[in-house]
Amino acid sequence: MNAVPGRRPLLQMPLRVEHDIFVVRQRGREVAAAVGLEHQDQVRVATALSEVARDLLGVAGGADVTFHVDEAPDGRQHLRVDLVPVRPLPHDRYEPQSGAVVRLVDRLGTIGVGRDTVVRMSRRVPVTAQALTPERLDELRAELVQSAPGSALDELAAQNQQLIAALDEVRQQRDELAVLNDELQETNRGVLALYGQLSEELEETNRGVVALYAELDEKSAQLRAASESKSRFLANVSHELRAPVTAIIGLGRLLADSASDPLTREQSQQVELIRASSTDLLTLVNELLDLAKAESGRIELNLAEVDLRPVFGQLRGTLRAVATRPEVELVVEEPPAATLRTDEVLLGQVLRNLLHNGLKFTERGEVRLRALRRDDHWALTVTDTGPGIAPELHERIFEEFYQAPGATRAGGTGLGLPYARRLVTLLGGTLELTSEPGRGSTFTVTLPVVGA
Ligand code: ADP
Repeated sequence: MNAVPGRRPLLQMPLRVEHDIFVVRQRGREVAAAVGLEHQDQVRVATALSEVARDLLGVAGGADVTFHVDEAPDGRQHLRVDLVPVRPLPHDRYEPQSGAVVRLVDRLGTIGVGRDTVVRMSRRVPVTAQALTPERLDELRAELVQSAPGSALDELAAQNQQLIAALDEVRQQRDELAVLNDELQETNRGVLALYGQLSEELEETNRGVVALYAELDEKSAQLRAASESKSRFLANVSHELRAPVTAIIGLGRLLADSASDPLTREQSQQVELIRASSTDLLTLVNELLDLAKAESGRIELNLAEVDLRPVFGQLRGTLRAVATRPEVELVVEEPPAATLRTDEVLLGQVLRNLLHNGLKFTERGEVRLRALRRDDHWALTVTDTGPGIAPELHERIFEEFYQAPGATRAGGTGLGLPYARRLVTLLGGTLELTSEPGRGSTFTVTLPVVGA
């Protein structure tokens, strides 16, 4: 920050005797007011100046005081006061007697000018002040030269006024502070009360949640126990039923055998009926046993890298016998030549079950098995052109014993799909259905690619 070259000071005056301190102070305030410093800043500059003046009178026998206006690189203007000591300062250094003086202005320190050590202070002119153009500075210079400095008494009176004003201000601030403090205390009390209320509510809610969790735990334990009992019951009953039903089928076969005593027409019809019913019963018992085994987690997975091509080939061969309707074509597409880590037997059972259902419910068109390898999973789909399934039954058909209205005609137990879903879950995948009445059905087995 530099004085504009060639610019004369706004004002200059000597500081030689005690009385000059008052004059320097008074003139300092006048200059500060003239360049547009606010009232408080005027008092600050005047006070700093009189303190420094007192110090320099003591250590250097006085000084020559000059007032300037400088412009900083950022365009902001500053009031600068230079005090050139009459005698060199001891050790060319200056420290104000009162350290607080430094805080009254933006800058206070010494600076070497030629061979002199000059004490310099400055204070920023607010941006709101009237612009200090060269013309305006000339005007100020003329005004300041004309205004004669008052007496020490005048300055004392002015100083008193300033002190009273400052005291008033302090008092006002203290009152405001007291009001603020009261408000703060009030707010604090409010916040504390709110906090108390909130923590109580939180505690209450927590207690509720804990109780709810305990109840949930208890309920799920009960559910687990019920499900285990059901599985055990199903397993036991079906196991117990299997031997007598097998015996009935065997006896029926014996009765119908040509080597046995001949039966009347009616008797052979009845024996045939007994055999057919027993075979149905045996299927049901076997399926129940399978399901119970899958639910109780007693199925052991035999995981291996499975090539789908022979699996699909086998399904193609065995299900051809089931696809007896000439209007329905069974299409088993050739799967991609990649292996899949899974249990071959269980996967075969699931696909056979789905294909079997497709062939059972489709009256014309086709039933198609297809395998698609995606980034992180396999999608094995069984699509048919059968009657389709209403959306509200999409989950129900996976429930045990559920058969959609009209499906009973096609035979079956309602246990195939729940069993298939159980197995797919054991294999780490999902079994989903997309279907609409009249538009066929697609059952999709999604299996993760292990390690993807
Ligand atoms: P089941 O076939 O022995 O009746 P499932 O559990 O396999 O038992 O199937 C349950 C029901 O879901 C069937 O009774 C039938 O109503 C319906 N369903 C299954 N697959 C199909 C299909 N491909 N098309 C139409 N309905 C089907």
